[in-house]
Amino acid sequence: MSRFSNRYKKIRRTVLEIIGAFDGVFAYKGPRCVQIDLTNACNNNCIGCWCNSPLLDDYKQTSDATLPTDMVLSLLNELKNMGTEEIYFAGGG
Ligand code: SF4
Repeated sequence: MSRFSNRYKKIRRTVLEIIGAFDGVFAYKGPRCVQIDLTNACNNNCIGCWCNSPLLDDYKQTSDATLPTDMVLSLLNELKNMGTEEIYFAGGG
């Protein structure tokens, strides 16, 4: 991809971000950065964890749900088409 094309895309994304900020209702582009929690499964109970802390009592997540591979691949394709630049893969905690 040429330098001009990359520069054009960056300017376009920035302009769409500014338009979205002024609009206040509609985002004209996808997210720049996304974190995908691939699974809730964990065998620890860290006290500071937002989903597995023993202090959460009834609010503790009990599911070991894991995202299906085809769903993740579809999401990655969608994010690519929306211009997402960074993706972090993480667990549930
Ligand atoms: S998800 Fe991470 S922070 Fe939470 S209990 Fe497991 S290891 Fe600890």
